[in-house]
Amino acid sequence: PGRRVGFYKVRGEIGYGTFSRVKMAFHALTKDKVALKILDKTRLDFQAQRLLSREISSMESLQHPNVVRLYEVVETPSRLYLVLEYAGGGDLHNRICNDGKFSDNASKITFAQILSAIKYMHSINIIHRDLKAENVLFTSSGCVKVADFGFSTRVSNRSDALDTFCGSPPYAAPELFRDECYLGPPVDVWAMGVLLFFMVTGTMPFRAETMGKLRRCIIEGAYTIPPWVPGPCQRLIKGILKPVPAERYAIDQMMGCDWLLPTQTPQYPPSPPAPPSPALRRP
Ligand code: ATP
Repeated sequence: PGRRVGFYKVRGEIGYGTFSRVKMAFHALTKDKVALKILDKTRLDFQAQRLLSREISSMESLQHPNVVRLYEVVETPSRLYLVLEYAGGGDLHNRICNDGKFSDNASKITFAQILSAIKYMHSINIIHRDLKAENVLFTSSGCVKVADFGFSTRVSNRSDALDTFCGSPPYAAPELFRDECYLGPPVDVWAMGVLLFFMVTGTMPFRAETMGKLRRCIIEGAYTIPPWVPGPCQRLIKGILKPVPAERYAIDQMMGCDWLLPTQTPQYPPSPPAPPSPALRRP
């Protein structure tokens, strides 16, 4: 408490990752809240530096109401600070673990915002590759903010083949387990299917005691949708969780599905503009 980083007064810790701690901070002049992702440079090995550089590069390009904004990068001799838009409403994983599954309406509103964020990323050739409930954050007014671009990649066009296994196994598409080249957009679409299943049922579609069994369930597309899930939502899940990527729904098909069409996303207060600070300083 009391410490300052650039224009920001640092307050309490709000989370931590493998290589980072995340603290809340206030802009000294505007009092806008931000999240400060703090990285100790001496702890970053070559791979972590590569992921961080991708995270910064992707986030610099992204400006969407449902994507966490990167305002600035501050560097000191020992640390890097990513100044991020603050999402103080917790993450989707904790919400469902604490309060249980979402109602049909809350699922629609949340899913429509995730879909909008991913459609936007893909339109500028950025693939997230680590979509999971822990990376779907909420603002205090309930607006979705997709976060954590550490595994993201930029493709020159959407038919570029990728070959690295990224992300969390329960959300990984079958083609990732088959050790073959894969296309980026269908991998994010699959993870959205897992997220949708998790929101409407409160459980994961693919669960197993060992990684081998999980891999088999996912490759075979072996999951069961509880019968009480509304028919239009079941059809959407089935259209997304298709083991063959070419048969999987594309984003536009998801946007036009019966389940989502009547969805009106609430009007959230606009994100605060980027705090007045010098131009982005890259490490
Ligand atoms: P790992 O390195 O293990 O993948 P991570 O990259 O998910 O972790 P961080 O991005 O460092 O971790 O975030 C750690 C935690 O900090 C998140 O789980 C979240 O609770 C919190 N957090 C991250 N960004 C924000 C934000 N913009 N606003 C509010 N909280 C955030």
